[in-house]
Amino acid sequence: MATEKILVIEDEEPIRELLKLTLESAGYSGVYMAANGENGLSLAQSRLPDLILLDLMLPGMDGLSVCRQLKSQEETRAIPIIMLTARSEESDVIIGLELGAVDYITKPFSRKILIARIRAQLRQFSDVEESNEIRRDGLMIRIDQHEVRLHGKLLDLTPSEFSILHMLVSYPGRVYTRNQIITRVKGDGYPVTERAIDVQILNLRRKLGDWAVNVDTVRGVGYRYKQESTE
Ligand code: CA
Repeated sequence: MATEKILVIEDEEPIRELLKLTLESAGYSGVYMAANGENGLSLAQSRLPDLILLDLMLPGMDGLSVCRQLKSQEETRAIPIIMLTARSEESDVIIGLELGAVDYITKPFSRKILIARIRAQLRQFSDVEESNEIRRDGLMIRIDQHEVRLHGKLLDLTPSEFSILHMLVSYPGRVYTRNQIITRVKGDGYPVTERAIDVQILNLRRKLGDWAVNVDTVRGVGYRYKQESTE
């Protein structure tokens, strides 16, 4: 039985029920439901869930406003938000990610993917630590030294490639927009475009060889480091 509390904010009752059922059959007993943004916000504040599933198209206060509110309040800021969207809401997805949501799931969703994505976010919460080393599936990053080793072998990465890789693997399962990646690598002191990010990723993948299957292109949105278990 999973002890994490999950809050679902979704206005459509059949989807809400399906989500509740799916979460409960996956072992989550602390599932809270809200049918609109206002109730969702107050439940988030009173229950302090470990994760929030947030529909973007809500009557009244829309999902992006809910997301913005959650991120602006001290108590709820750190709660990971996974957005639920229709395929046509891609630009909202990008805004949501830039507001601080960690991932999104397109409706209709597969139950298996839904649970895997939720687990990925809950797992890494206990997993992120202030250490100088990140190890992921044969890859080791030494942050202070700007050093990356793959199965023990030192990789020759540019500072931007290092920054991008570090960003992606720090939060498994989290989707980053190209803009967020640009902001991260800007420190390297030259103009960066979305296209330049794609080129950097291409070069990074080449250097990573087989391991590059872990770097996932999120079409039209950005990139994520995908753990095998989120498949
Ligand atoms: Ca809706």
